[in-house]
Amino acid sequence: MSHVFPRNSNKLPPVGKVGAGVHLFDADGKAYFDGSGGAAVSCLGHGDQDVIDAIKSQLDSMAFAHTGFLSSDPAEALADLLVLHAPEGLEHVYFVSGGSEAVEAALKLARQYFVEIGQPQRSKIIARRQSYHGNTLGALAVGGNEWRRAQFAPLLIDVSHISPCYEYREKHDGETTFDFGQRMANELEDEILRLGADQVMAFIAEPVVGATMGAVPSVEGYFKRIREICDKYGVLLILDEVMCGMGRTGTLFAADQEDISPDICTIAKGLGAGYQPIGAMLCSGKIYHAIKDGSGFFQHGHTYVGHPTACAAGLAVVQKLTGGLVDQVASKGQQLTDMLNDAFGQNPLVGDIRGRGLFIGMEFVADRDTKAVLDPSHKFNARLKAAAFDAGLICYPMGGTIDGKHGDHVLLAPPFISEPHHFEEVVDKLGAAV
Ligand code: PMP
Repeated sequence: MSHVFPRNSNKLPPVGKVGAGVHLFDADGKAYFDGSGGAAVSCLGHGDQDVIDAIKSQLDSMAFAHTGFLSSDPAEALADLLVLHAPEGLEHVYFVSGGSEAVEAALKLARQYFVEIGQPQRSKIIARRQSYHGNTLGALAVGGNEWRRAQFAPLLIDVSHISPCYEYREKHDGETTFDFGQRMANELEDEILRLGADQVMAFIAEPVVGATMGAVPSVEGYFKRIREICDKYGVLLILDEVMCGMGRTGTLFAADQEDISPDICTIAKGLGAGYQPIGAMLCSGKIYHAIKDGSGFFQHGHTYVGHPTACAAGLAVVQKLTGGLVDQVASKGQQLTDMLNDAFGQNPLVGDIRGRGLFIGMEFVADRDTKAVLDPSHKFNARLKAAAFDAGLICYPMGGTIDGKHGDHVLLAPPFISEPHHFEEVVDKLGAAV
């Protein structure tokens, strides 16, 4: 009997033994294509020698130092590199151990900022429905996934939710794409006014919605309008790039494609690429200085903040990403999208194929014309996950039928080192499973 508390208690997973390139192998030697990169984590694939060497070398010199006493070379170098490539104005990096921690830090930083500048009444947060920001209590509270939140209610933070920018289902007939985006963004202004403009502290959103919706990007102009509204009412904009960041969408930061800068940005997953648990929160100089010149320190911090070995891994990863790998993501993503369109474009079960870069979602429907969602009792996503796994493909299906407004989907996020013949493997195996 295994004593590991399993993620899904009704089925124990096989034990993985080896990771090599785009594949993982279990104890029986069966190969699985890592089609979701372990939830958009393994951007470099498995067994990357440069990252392994960087980790080994840091372990040899100084595995750990508490950042209350000492910084480290890899933490300093990684912060410099991230700021060099970050959206304009993001100047300070706070390292954590993962995505939920990054979101917690972002929420607490926003809150402390307003306390420091003498606006303590600003405590309300606006997020979007059908979003996921993590599983710790604060991150869970801002997420817009009702079934995840329900069993832990009442949650600790004052949050309300607006619609996501979900073109496939929310755009009206005859409406232009631009007008649709503005209408969706204007929901933020309505919500700020409803709550009281001086009460709202932040708006948090994923630039491309990952886990809950299957790679849904916003339409052009949406985030520009969101930025305008935040500026108009003094609300901080937090972009959660935990899943879509670190090159996944074709640029190091997904915000780069929206032509805006957030006040705070969270990253994780691809930052450690699976080699070490690491995440980060980046913030603007305005926020940093308000705190530095105010009480003097961010009242937050975990023991493993800025862990040198994790930062060494992150540094090696970001050096590879910015050293040319991210530049290949858009064209590889287009190749895979074209292949998916060829294979599934006419499939009666497939309503939508969308995404950005190597962050691609396919949405399944009962009827392509009406976009009717699949009957939840069919448990399509659970069966798809199992069938794909049997076929040797790890992918990320999710059921979205909780509110009848969005459907079952699968998220594909293969490693950036994938080649066209790997995409054929994905499409074949996914086809067999569907
Ligand atoms: N934010 C987003 C957008 C995510 O997709 C996730 C994880 N799926 C998280 C936060 C939480 O990250 P972690 O699981 O590393 O805590």
